[in-house]
Amino acid sequence: MRKTYLLFLFTFILFTTCGQGNQRDSANSKNKNEVMNYNTLTPEEERVIIHKGTERPFTGEYVDNKVAGIYYCKRCDAPLYRSEDKFESDCGWPSFDDEIEGAIKRVRDADGRRTEIICNNCGAHLGHVFLGEGFTPKQTRHCVNSISMKFVPTKKEGFTKAYFASGCFWGTEYFFMKAPGVKQTSVGFMGGHVEHPTYEQVCQKNTGHLETTEVVFDPAETSYQEMVKLFFETHDFTQTNGQGPDIGPQYLSCIFYSDPAEKAIAKKYIDILTEKGYRVATMLKPASTFWKAEDYHQQYYEYKGTMPYCHKYTAIF
Ligand SMILES: [Zn+2]
Repeated sequence: MRKTYLLFLFTFILFTTCGQGNQRDSANSKNKNEVMNYNTLTPEEERVIIHKGTERPFTGEYVDNKVAGIYYCKRCDAPLYRSEDKFESDCGWPSFDDEIEGAIKRVRDADGRRTEIICNNCGAHLGHVFLGEGFTPKQTRHCVNSISMKFVPTKKEGFTKAYFASGCFWGTEYFFMKAPGVKQTSVGFMGGHVEHPTYEQVCQKNTGHLETTEVVFDPAETSYQEMVKLFFETHDFTQTNGQGPDIGPQYLSCIFYSDPAEKAIAKKYIDILTEKGYRVATMLKPASTFWKAEDYHQQYYEYKGTMPYCHKYTAIF
């Protein structure tokens, strides 16, 4: 009982202290019981979240976090940002070009220049928002302190399968099989009208299939977003007649998406590349049956111990 009373007293004092200078925050319009439900903060969390401090750049827990999931308010657990909207800005803090609808409130910073962003539910200080910098097509950068947030990865049963076509599937698979979080890869064919196609049939260029790599990844360790980035960074997505020296319809660049979320992520990266001035030739198509190719095509370069002739890694994002 004594413990409960002390906890109550402590939280009450904390609240009244925090409320000072923030009289118009939505937090203050809430009744005491709701406020009592806020999470207890460490002194460092309090310095940033309550007293509008800033964590040192490149020190936050989520600066380089690329796992799929949701970022919640550290103080009140309200959902704030989605991992799909996170991008690398090299500014030293997690950056997002969009927010979860209604989650963020913008207020004029005390410095009179910047726009501060706070949790719309509890008024916790998150960071600042900057516009028109050209990082992404949305021209918006929410620069957020990691310490103001709590990240929860997307919980998915088992692994996710993704399908990418970027020319000779030996080369496509070579890079995906080495990527962090990827558990398994296979090469085969997708998008055509012939059932159980053989490599020889597809080489006739009239089955409609594209050489495609099936990538099985663990969404707790990586994300579809990372897969899409790797796809674009390992082939020439501006080539319209094939890939490298391999010319023909079976070598075209294509992302086969499995659901609307994957389609939206793929489209987002095509838009980013278009913004950067690339003429993207990559097609977006719904995934259909994946026909696995003959065994001697699987993990080809790993088996041969050689390097791809038509794919190389080039950092873009
Ligand atoms: Zn909050």
